Amino acid sequence: MDLELRGKRAVITGGSVGIGLAVAHALAAEGVDVAIVARDGARAEREASEIAASHRVKALGIAADVSKAGDVERSCARVAAAFDGVDILINNAGTGSSEKIMEAGDDRWQYYWDLHVMAAVRFSRALVPLMRKRRGGVILNTASICAKQPLGYEPIYNTTKAALVMFSKCLANELVKDGIRVNTINPGLVLTPDWRKTAGILTAGTGKTPEQYLDDVAKENAPIGRFATPEELAHFYAFLCSPRASPRKGESTWNGN
Ligand code: NDP
Repeated sequence: MDLELRGKRAVITGGSVGIGLAVAHALAAEGVDVAIVARDGARAEREASEIAASHRVKALGIAADVSKAGDVERSCARVAAAFDGVDILINNAGTGSSEKIMEAGDDRWQYYWDLHVMAAVRFSRALVPLMRKRRGGVILNTASICAKQPLGYEPIYNTTKAALVMFSKCLANELVKDGIRVNTINPGLVLTPDWRKTAGILTAGTGKTPEQYLDDVAKENAPIGRFATPEELAHFYAFLCSPRASPRKGESTWNGN
């Protein structure tokens, strides 16, 4: 299926590893130019070079901490200078937390609010004008299953990801008139290098292998009994970015409009 994405331009935060990197590859494979944003600029640039070489697209690695307003502003300025407009924004940078509500201070809440919510607000505010110039676009926000089904050890993660879901709904309502589609994806367990690292740390000296630990986590938490791969999730992102994920003129929709 041709996803009709060739020649589009995408910005992917947290695009240097895990889900974001798989999404960057999936889009680049469809002929999309990509800018990947992460704090470790050397890794982002390395992965961008690899994407450019593998898929023959333009790829940019940008060093930025997306929880900081100034870094977001600088990233968007670089994107604006490098690309003639933007069609796709994937707000994906994020990380888990571990705390008790009664013990966590305001600074911790503020950091995760800035990382999971304000980064999406700021990137959207800066890049939507570039989408409007191109008469449309797609914004996908990576929240988490934890936005609906909290994990006990990470209340701040759960709360800020739930806020991101609500932000997405509000933004979708505001931008629908501009032909900009906004959606949230709430992944369950996705096997990224970070999960493998954690499994290695938690099983060291226990007699259990990292693979056994991951298998137990999957069996306990996912009815399917396994982790998803970043790649299988990435195909879904690519489809949602495609005009094929939206009704066209003359095609009927579920309610006949
Ligand atoms: P990884 O830890 O594998 O990758 C995170 C990415 O985000 C990296 O590119 C990292 O690069 C970047 N990043 C983290 N913090 C910042 C920051 N402050 N500023 C800029 N970039 C940042 O994560 P996953 O691929 O597992 O997760 C991606 C998203 O999916 C996250 O939002 C996560 O919450 C969500 N998710 C993941 C699930 C899973 O099972 N893996 C399940 C549900 C949701 P760098 O460190 O260089 O900044």
